Amino acid sequence: MAYRTINPATGKIVKTYDDISDAALSKAMDVAQACYENDWPLRSIAQRAEVIHAAAELMRRNRDRLASLATLEMGKPITEAKSEVTLSADIFDYYAKMAETFLKPRPIPDVLNATIETFSLGIILGVEPWNFPYYQVARVAAPQLMAGNVLVIKHASNVPQAALAFAQMLEEAGAPKGAYTNIFASTDQVGRLIEDTRVRGVTVTGSEGAGAAIAERAGRKLKKSVLELGGSDPLLILEDAPFEATLDNAMWGRMNTTGQSCTASKRVIVVGKERGEQFLEGLRIRMSSLRAGNPADPATTLAPLSSDKVMTGLLQQIESAKAAGAKVVTGGSRIDRPGFYLEPTILTDITEHNPIYTQELFGPVLSFYIVESEEEAIKVANATPFGLGASVFTANLERGKEVARRIESGMVYINRPVWSAPELPFGGVKNSGYGRELSELGIGEFVNRKLINVSAAGSPPPSDHQAG
Ligand code: NAP
Repeated sequence: MAYRTINPATGKIVKTYDDISDAALSKAMDVAQACYENDWPLRSIAQRAEVIHAAAELMRRNRDRLASLATLEMGKPITEAKSEVTLSADIFDYYAKMAETFLKPRPIPDVLNATIETFSLGIILGVEPWNFPYYQVARVAAPQLMAGNVLVIKHASNVPQAALAFAQMLEEAGAPKGAYTNIFASTDQVGRLIEDTRVRGVTVTGSEGAGAAIAERAGRKLKKSVLELGGSDPLLILEDAPFEATLDNAMWGRMNTTGQSCTASKRVIVVGKERGEQFLEGLRIRMSSLRAGNPADPATTLAPLSSDKVMTGLLQQIESAKAAGAKVVTGGSRIDRPGFYLEPTILTDITEHNPIYTQELFGPVLSFYIVESEEEAIKVANATPFGLGASVFTANLERGKEVARRIESGMVYINRPVWSAPELPFGGVKNSGYGRELSELGIGEFVNRKLINVSAAGSPPPSDHQAG
C-alpha cells in the first residue's frame, strides 16, 4: 500500500489507500478515451472555460479545507498552504480567460491563405510531486483541459487525500467523467500507461531520476515529454545590494515550503568578504531563531519535512558534506521530538570537490559561499548540473540584468527569489528538464499546431524546389 497519509508533524499513519487494480486502470483509460473522442475537445472553448472557472471558484470556497489537507499530508505551514490554493485557483481563472487568445488560428506573416490552427492531442499523462500538491497539478490541468486534452494524473504517494480532493473538485465543477482522472498507480503501471497508444504525451514534475526514467520510456515510443525537475538555484548578492531587504528575501527563498521547493534559493553567493560575513551572521541569527511546532498553527516558524525519506537523505548529505570539509555554522541535526523536524542548517567552506557543490539540498539546508568578484559569483552559480531558477540582488538594475543574462537557468529574478504567477513561464534547462509550464508557453506544450495552407482550385503542382 504505497499511497498513504503520514502526518509529518507526528510521524503517524493517518490513512492508507489501495493501488488501482489493472482492471480498474484499464476501465479508467477507456473512460478517458471516450471522453476525448466524444465530449471534451468537442465543446467550445467558452464551454470548457465555464467548468474551469467553476473549479477556481470551488477552490477558493474550499480553501481552508484544501489547505488543511496539504498541511496534514506533507507538513507545509498552513499559511503557505492557503496561498497555494489561492494561486492554483488563479491559474485556473487565467487559462479559462486566456485560452481563446492562446488557441486562436494565426496567420503566417507574408504567406497568403496559410494559417496555423491549434488542436488538442488526446490523453496526457501527468506524474506529480507532493511539495505543492495543488499548484503543481493546476499548472498541468488548467492549460491542458483548456486546450481540449484530457488528463490521467499519478500524484505522489504521500498526498492521496489532496489528490482525491483535486479530482473531486473538478467533477463538482462539471468536468465530464474521464476529463480528469486521478489514479493511485504503481511505477510499473505508469510505465505501461506511457506505452498505451492512447496516451499522447507525458509530463513529469519531480526528481531527475523519475524524469529520466519516464522520458526514456516515452522517447522509445516517440512521445513528447515535458520535464520539470530539480534545481539548485543560486541567489547572488552583489556588492551594492541593500542589506536587510536582501536578507529577508534570502530567508524566504531558502525557507519557503521548509526548503522543499524546486526553486528554493539553495545556494547563497555573496560578493566581498566583509559583506559576506555580515550576511552569514544575519542568516545564522534568523535561521537559528526558528522554532519547531505544529504546521497547522499559523504561529509556528519551523514546520516539519514532508517525510522520513527526505529527512534521512538530507542528514546523509550533511554528513558527506562535513566529511569533505564543509563547516556547519548552525543546525545540522534532527530535532528531538516526534515528526520529521530538521534544524535549519547553514554550510560553508564548500569546495568544488565537495559532493554538495553540485547536489540539490531539498530542505532547510543552505550552502553559503563568499567570493571575491562578480565573475567568480557567476562561475559558482553556473557550476551545477541544474538550471532551473536564479536570483540576483543589486541596487543597479541594469547590472543585475547583465548578470542574469549570463546565468544558465530557465528563470532569473532580480531583487527577489524565484516566485510564480500564472502569466510567468516556469521551467529550466540542463538537468532541471525541458519544456515550460504556465503562461502562453504552458498551453502550447501538448497541442498540434496544424498548418492549413489553401491554394485556389485548379492551381498547378508546386515547382520541384518546393517539395518537402
Ligand atoms: P520523485 O521521487 O521524483 O517523485 C515525484 C513523482 O514521481 C511522484 O509522483 C513519484 O511517485 C513519481 N515517480 C518517481 N519515480 C518514478 C518512476 N520511475 N516512474 C513513475 N513515477 C515515478 O520526486 P520527489 O523527491 O518526491 O520530489 C522532489 C524533486 O522534485 C526535487 O528534485 C524537486 O526539485 C523536484 N521538483 C521540481 C519542480 C519543478 O517544477 N521543476 C517542482 C517540484 C519539485 P511516488 O510518490 O509514488 O514515488
